[in-house]
Amino acid sequence: TSRLIQVQCLITDMRTVILMGLDSAGKSTLLARLLTGQVMETSPTVGFNVGTLDLDKKTSLTVWDVGGQKSMRPNWRYYMDDCKALVFVVDSSDPGRLPEAQKALKKVLSDEKLRGVPVMVLANKKDLPNSMTIREISTQLDLPSYTDRAWEIQACSALKGLGLQQAFMSVNKLIKKS
Ligand code: GDP
Repeated sequence: TSRLIQVQCLITDMRTVILMGLDSAGKSTLLARLLTGQVMETSPTVGFNVGTLDLDKKTSLTVWDVGGQKSMRPNWRYYMDDCKALVFVVDSSDPGRLPEAQKALKKVLSDEKLRGVPVMVLANKKDLPNSMTIREISTQLDLPSYTDRAWEIQACSALKGLGLQQAFMSVNKLIKKS
């Protein structure tokens, strides 16, 4: 099932936040919301999409999309070295795929490089009428079993732009506490 995991990175000032989730969870939509569309040319062949999200008066988050394409895949463990938080996106309107998401999350978190790294689960697509509660999702994902790291779950809608600022403010807090 690992081919279903896409990886994108948000690299803040000095902090790397990895954004992950099964396909269709809403990662691209979320990034599109956060990114301004400005492209930084880091080399003739690689241009990163960058943007800034203002969290509060003192804090802003710089977002870089390094892509989840297959060709970038070998690089993503490199970002894990520096990873300060993992943001795991799930589609809260798709209960059928939660077992798969649970396995994917467990596998990712078993990596030595992510030991103790805090996790923010984004229960995306909360705008849909059939979306599950964060309580249900939390249980299905076995979040209470992660006792050796800080985790949090919040509902959001990447499509409508609801709850994102709040979620990333919490990510920032989780990082500061860890
Ligand atoms: P990715 O594969 O994780 O990058 O997922 P995408 O961002 O491509 O989203 C998959 C589909 O879900 C697209 O049709 C999006 O428009 C839709 N989608 C993403 N976020 C939301 C959301 O918050 N609410 C709703 N209703 N649809 C969403």
